[in-house]
Amino acid sequence: MRTGIVYHDRYLAHEQYPSHPERRERLSYTMDQLEEEGIFEKEEFLLITPKPASISDILAVHEEDYLTFLERSSVVGGYIDADTNIPPGLYQNALLSAGGAVAAGDAVLDKKVRNAFAFCRPPGHHAGKRNGAGFCYLNNMAVLVQHVKKRGLKRVAIIDWDAHHGNGTQEIFYPDSTVLFFSVHQYPFYPGTGGINESGTGAGRGYTINMPVPAGTSDESYEYLFTEIIAPVIREFSPDCVTISAGQDAHFTDPLISLALTTKGYATLMHKACALADELCKGRLIAILEGGYSVCGGLPYTNLAILACMAGLDTSHCTDPQAYMSAFPDRYNPRSFDHVRGMTHDLKKILSSTWNNIR
Ligand SMILES: [Zn+2]
Repeated sequence: MRTGIVYHDRYLAHEQYPSHPERRERLSYTMDQLEEEGIFEKEEFLLITPKPASISDILAVHEEDYLTFLERSSVVGGYIDADTNIPPGLYQNALLSAGGAVAAGDAVLDKKVRNAFAFCRPPGHHAGKRNGAGFCYLNNMAVLVQHVKKRGLKRVAIIDWDAHHGNGTQEIFYPDSTVLFFSVHQYPFYPGTGGINESGTGAGRGYTINMPVPAGTSDESYEYLFTEIIAPVIREFSPDCVTISAGQDAHFTDPLISLALTTKGYATLMHKACALADELCKGRLIAILEGGYSVCGGLPYTNLAILACMAGLDTSHCTDPQAYMSAFPDRYNPRSFDHVRGMTHDLKKILSSTWNNIR
């Protein structure tokens, strides 16, 4: 079966202002890269055109008052926080972005594709039930999860590898033991949350798993976290579907963050995620674009590599252009791995009361 690419030209319409980091070129450059590589002609891929999410899908996540606020503010424009204006027309663009996540989920559940990547904007993982924040308005991931659960899936795993903590997604699923939420993120950093002690509440205790990492963290630490924490816990959880909040701002060329993942590192993560989905849930995997601001740097290459992994193509040639690699040593922190090992040791103590595989 094929890999779905969810995209709509209106995903380029949203813009707070031309120099804002979350700008339309993030996506248009990626689409140019995919076109240049002939992705849209390959039989391994299916292009999927999304529709706006239904209001009932949105209200399964967000409070009605907040949705009304977004709709009204979108008429002439409005404001949420210093990073997050509401440009006119935002409401329809945000509904279409969430609809991209839903379309990816439907295509997988309808067996039109094996897995799918929604290249949607604006992103969503900082949006909570009743608020937007950090470039996000509607939580696309949470809308997807509630939608696939409505369609019959019982347990969903979310791996949020965006460089920022997925605080909105965490808030929405914090008491929920049917949704397993992992977040790997630079810490301390925006939004300030995501310490290892934030691990869920009530029935959801142990089902929120935060992996804060220091500046300069690179591929070896992410692979270590996958092997030590993510894979054993997901196996025990046994999800019906694996989802990825795919933020590519942990790449070493990203201008907003100080992490040091490479394109190859991202490909390895997606390869491992797909292998887990194959093992546990018939390959059902849905990725949603979150952050990633290295518009002219690593972002298009990383998105291409991730997509190629999802389709089972050979990704050995998917590396960062040599011209960028000169920036890597300045970003990479050789001591970060020791720090991550120490954090993992402490995190395992917290998780061991929930997960047998971590004992
Ligand atoms: Zn981010």
